[in-house]
Amino acid sequence: MPAALPRALTDSWRAARHAVVLCGSGVSAESGVPTFRDAQTGMWASFRPEDLATPEAFQRNPSQVWDWYAWRRELCDRIEPNAGHLALARLASAMPRLTLLTQNVDGLHQRAGSPEVLEIHGNIHRNLCFAEGTPVSDADMIAGRPPTCVRCGSLVRPAVVWFGEAIDSDMLDRALEACRDCDVFISAGTSSEVYPAAGFGRIAADTGAVLVEVNPDETPLTPICDYVLRGQSATLLPALVAAYISDEERQ
Ligand code: NAD
Repeated sequence: MPAALPRALTDSWRAARHAVVLCGSGVSAESGVPTFRDAQTGMWASFRPEDLATPEAFQRNPSQVWDWYAWRRELCDRIEPNAGHLALARLASAMPRLTLLTQNVDGLHQRAGSPEVLEIHGNIHRNLCFAEGTPVSDADMIAGRPPTCVRCGSLVRPAVVWFGEAIDSDMLDRALEACRDCDVFISAGTSSEVYPAAGFGRIAADTGAVLVEVNPDETPLTPICDYVLRGQSATLLPALVAAYISDEERQ
């Protein structure tokens, strides 16, 4: 049974020609990827993500950081996209323009079939040369914990944005352009606490977009949202997409 949406939201949503959907780790929670706050299990229980996901941590103890990412990568390999990811992939072909921004590094949007995803925090399945910041393919690294770059001998690191690191400036420009252009902005499964992504919704609202939050809990974005859909993204995102597509099919 699809979740019921407020009538006024459905009307704005069906008229939308460009939506931005910003996803956070909550969107992958129902696939079984722990959110950062919940990821402390087993041997990693005594570590804080802030102590593992920084360039300084990698310099201090590269094998420990590499092992943590190897463990998270294996988790991601074992799970599947959920109904929320699949709905967003479907929306991409139904809407004139969809900008899918994700803070997730798990690659589940691509596996669900989304054609274009701005992965603002990178992707856990790709790697970079720690010295040069350039992409390193599996063929270009020498095995180890961590592996080393075949070109320069430097350590290889996961291609994710760590605490204290900047987001790629081209990616940020594209995200900001989309936020200023969209008529609906959906913030899904994010705590709206990690900047700059946490500021995107306000930028969209300031330029006239309808702001929608999909989250079981209150966040700092909630007070400025036009609509707050309390619940899980694997239920609510399919409901939103079904509402949009059913209208498209009537035209
Ligand atoms: P967060 O952990 O700070 O917040 C998760 C949010 O999701 C919370 O507000 C929570 O209420 C909500 N949530 C939980 N279950 C949900 C569900 N089923 N449906 C909808 N919402 C749900 O995550 P964040 O805001 O993405 O930011 C933290 C950082 O953690 C990001 O930088 C991200 O890159 C990183 N991270 C990524 C992954 C991943 O790739 N899947 C996993 C953990 C952390």
